[in-house]
Amino acid sequence: MSTLFAADEAKRLLDAAIKGDMPDERGRFGPFGGRYVPETLVPAFDRLETGVKEHLHSPAFQAEFQKELREWVGRPTALSFASRLSEAWGAEVWIKREDLAHTGAHKINNAIGQALLAKRLGAKRVIAETGAGQHGVASAAACARVGLSCSVFMGAVDMERQAPNVDRIRRLGAEVIAVETGDKTLRAAIDEALREWVTDPDGIYYLLGSAVGAHPYPYLVRELQSVIGIEARQQMLSQAGGLPDAAFACVGGGSNAIGLFYPLLGDDIELIGVEAGGIGDGLGENAATLATGTPGVLQGSYTIILQNDDGQVQETQSISAGLDYSGVGPEHALLQATGRVKYISARDDEALEALGELCTIEGILTALETSHAFAAARKYAKQNPGKRILIGNSGRGDKDIPTLTKYPAGI
Ligand SMILES: *Cc1c(COP(=O)(O)O)cnc(C)c1O
Repeated sequence: MSTLFAADEAKRLLDAAIKGDMPDERGRFGPFGGRYVPETLVPAFDRLETGVKEHLHSPAFQAEFQKELREWVGRPTALSFASRLSEAWGAEVWIKREDLAHTGAHKINNAIGQALLAKRLGAKRVIAETGAGQHGVASAAACARVGLSCSVFMGAVDMERQAPNVDRIRRLGAEVIAVETGDKTLRAAIDEALREWVTDPDGIYYLLGSAVGAHPYPYLVRELQSVIGIEARQQMLSQAGGLPDAAFACVGGGSNAIGLFYPLLGDDIELIGVEAGGIGDGLGENAATLATGTPGVLQGSYTIILQNDDGQVQETQSISAGLDYSGVGPEHALLQATGRVKYISARDDEALEALGELCTIEGILTALETSHAFAAARKYAKQNPGKRILIGNSGRGDKDIPTLTKYPAGI
C-alpha cells in the first residue's frame, strides 16, 4: 500500500478525517477532492453548496429524512449473523443487509436524501445519471415519492445492456434520455447531465449517485450514506457483543463503502475496500482504480483515476456494471494515502464463486458488485482464522440474473 505522506502528516490528516473536519471549506480531503469545473458550472455548484450548508444538518431536514428512511426505505436494515458461512470460513461473519432496503440496494439512502433536498431548494425538476440503471431506479422512485419530475441520462450502450432497468425507470414515472456521446456509458452520462444542469441551475437539481465528482457531492453522499455504518456499529455492539475485527465493502465510486467505513474510522477495525479486478491486472482489464491508478482530475475532482501515460482516461472492465468506473471518490484516495483503509481487488471469477457460495449456504442472492467484497472477506478469513468480520451487503442480485445465466449455477 502506498502512503503518500510522511507519518506525522498522515496522522494529522487522518485525525482531521475522524474528527469530521474533512472535507475542508474548499471541499478537499487533504490533497484530494476540490472542485475542478468549468466556469459555467460554478453558479450551480455554489447554489448547491449553500443549500447543503443550510439544510443538510438542520433539525427539520433530518427529521424528514429519518422518517422517510424508516417508513419508506425500510430502515434500519437487518444485520444478519451468517452461521453457515462462519462455519465454512472458520470466522464469525456478520452481514449488513442493504439488499433489504427499498429498490434493493444502498443507493436509495442517497436518492431519497437528495430528492428531499431538491424539494427544499425549490427545484422544478431532477436530473440524474445512471450506469447499470440502479441509481436511475432509485432516483425515479425517490422523485415519485416526493413529487418531482425526473430525467435520467443513460449511455446508449448501457441502455442496451441494462434494458430491464430502463423499463423500471420509465414505469416509476421518470424519463430516460439516451446519451450517444463519448463512450456512451456512465462517464458520458455524467457529462451530459452536467451540461443539462448549466441550462437552468435554479430550476434543475442534479442528483448524483455516488461519492464522486466535485464538491459538495462526495461530502453530501457520504453524509446520506453514513446511516449504513451508524446502524451497523450499533447492531454489532448489541447483537454480536462487540465491534468487528475487520469490515469489507465493495468500491465502485465508493458510496456504500464510505457509508459503512466513515462511522468506523475512529475504531480499532481493519477496513478493507474491494474493487473490481476484472479479468486481469493489465490497464483496461479491470476497474481497480485505487489498487492500480494514479492521481489526476476526473469529472471535477482530484482523485485517483485509471489513465495511461498521456493522461488519457482508461476504459474499464468488470463483470459488475456498478463497479465499472475509471475514478473513485476523493475521500477514499485520502483514506488509502493515510494507510487507514486498505484497497484490494477481486476478479470476476472470484466474485462469481463467492456469489454462488452465499446463495447456497446463506440463501442470499447478492449483487455482483457486492460479491467482490465477499470474495475478499473469504480470503481474509482463511488467512486469519477466528476473526469477527462485518461485510456490507450493498444490494441484491436479482438484477444480475441476465448476466448470471451465462454462468451455470453450481460453481
Ligand atoms: C451502484 C452499486 C455499487 C457501487 O457503487 P458505490 O458508489 O461504490 O457503492 C455497489 N453495489 C451495488 C449493489 C450497487 O448497486
